[in-house]
Amino acid sequence: VTYLVTVTPVSSTDRSGALCAFQDITEQELIGQLRRDFVANVSHELRTPLTALAGFIETLKGAARDDPAARDRFLTIMERETGRMNRLVQDLLSLSRVEAEERRRPTTDVDVAVVIQSAAAALRPVADAANVTLEITGADTAPHVPADADQLLQVFQNLIENAIKYGASGRLITVRIHPPTSDPLLRIDVIDRGDGIEEQHLQRLTERFYRVDTHRSRDKGGTGLGLAIVKHIVNRHRGEFTISSQRGKGACFTVLLPKT
Ligand code: ADP
Repeated sequence: VTYLVTVTPVSSTDRSGALCAFQDITEQELIGQLRRDFVANVSHELRTPLTALAGFIETLKGAARDDPAARDRFLTIMERETGRMNRLVQDLLSLSRVEAEERRRPTTDVDVAVVIQSAAAALRPVADAANVTLEITGADTAPHVPADADQLLQVFQNLIENAIKYGASGRLITVRIHPPTSDPLLRIDVIDRGDGIEEQHLQRLTERFYRVDTHRSRDKGGTGLGLAIVKHIVNRHRGEFTISSQRGKGACFTVLLPKT
């Protein structure tokens, strides 16, 4: 614990006493450190594709100028790298928007089943390409909840997209909307049958830019911000977000949302 101590005389004439204020600045230091780490991470994430782009532009202007096959190959890589930067900027904007609204709990009446079905529909082509079957259970008894529909859509898109990316190809992904109970929270699980995640990583997955395997995430076009965004959105809804998994046994991402 770090204290900032401020000593002030009681008055300018009376020297018999002083006010002494102790202020715990540990948390402020921690916030400052987190902010510095975040800026360093963003810079690093942007510098990697920028360096690649600068290199390819040089090559295109020089050696590859008269080689159409090489030019096409380099342009394809440049397209991928700009796509990566674009996704990173989009995710950063989403994150800051959700953070700015975190104190305001959403109140619009939203049909959870419709949101989940839209998320699944948007990702159907990606699932088909990965030969993955997407199933939704419990949609017929799903309640309405107070929510921000766009943000909830993003939660389930991020979770389903991850399940496709990191779940094994050719397997099943289940989004289970649990039947209504007297519990004040509605439970939704996104379950994949992929490689799963080792215990030691579980706590840290919702940290910004935390990845189990950086190369694998980058190869799959990941920004490392998806689960951080999910956590912030669920927090804004005063819900809970938990992850359970065992290496080799798939993963289950649980969203709990207040029903009223
Ligand atoms: P990314 O853009 O890297 O996918 P996320 O924040 O969405 O970032 O996820 C953080 C990390 O969590 C991923 O890099 C991956 O290592 C791990 N992860 C996320 N979802 C799954 C999953 N369904 N199965 C296994 N690992 C996962």
